[in-house]
Amino acid sequence: MILRPLGTLLLLFAAAINLTPSTAKALPDSLRVDVPEKNRQQGQFFTVRVANTSSKPGLWFMERSYAMFRQPDSSWRALVPVENLTRPGSYAILVRTDSLEQKVPVLVKPNNRKIQYITLDPSKQGIKATETENTRVKAALQTESPEKLYTGTFLRPSTGRTSSLFGLKRSYDGGPVASYHKGIDISAPRGTPVKSTANGRIILTGTVNAGFRLHGNTVIIDHGQGLTSIYMHLDAIAVKEGQDVVKGEVIGRVGHTGISTAPHLHWGTYLYGTSVDPLLFEGKTY
Ligand SMILES: [Zn+2]
Repeated sequence: MILRPLGTLLLLFAAAINLTPSTAKALPDSLRVDVPEKNRQQGQFFTVRVANTSSKPGLWFMERSYAMFRQPDSSWRALVPVENLTRPGSYAILVRTDSLEQKVPVLVKPNNRKIQYITLDPSKQGIKATETENTRVKAALQTESPEKLYTGTFLRPSTGRTSSLFGLKRSYDGGPVASYHKGIDISAPRGTPVKSTANGRIILTGTVNAGFRLHGNTVIIDHGQGLTSIYMHLDAIAVKEGQDVVKGEVIGRVGHTGISTAPHLHWGTYLYGTSVDPLLFEGKTY
């Protein structure tokens, strides 16, 4: 019974629009793109917000597309990572809806991280990652679940000093620079509790026995909307895959498993599978 008057109203509305063609373009003009910080360093990220559009906007940076996620205030948001080896210079973030396109010029600055020369324990020399750990870790870190699980400030997952920064280029046993440090190292005695940096869901637990020769015993948490965190070289794992965890919950213990020169926690944070500096999260809110 209620459908009939509604249908009539819609017809009348459509007729009204037809009578005034100039209103057809009114909606798209109000699209609003906001990138509060347009100068970011390698290993950091851009916060991109889009308001006044009902459909999901497309977003591109350096020819890669990034999913935008709906926020409680009905705007759309993405935290767009700047890979650590991105060439510094001028770029653009492109946002596109059905009818509008907007380009925001941004600047990537160098982070000037040094080369770190690492000598491995002879008993661990020649250890290579297994196919199992590489495949499973990569897949987990690329998780993009739509629900934002994290709220409030991010915690430092363990006590102890930062013994190695994010982004350092790495040379093992005098070899060429082959990679960079995709997280920070927190030096702590074996057995020190390791806590979840934020609310989330355990999406990977990997053990040395299951083939995690390089990473050691490892936990990965999905925090939602493209953000994941990794905890490596653990002595023990206290959680199971699929389990929800709250910020500060103990997920394991500091250890020396995998490729590791001394007991420490390797803590990494990833956006859309790209590693960004965890110190951008510690004590911050996004
Ligand atoms: Zn590390």
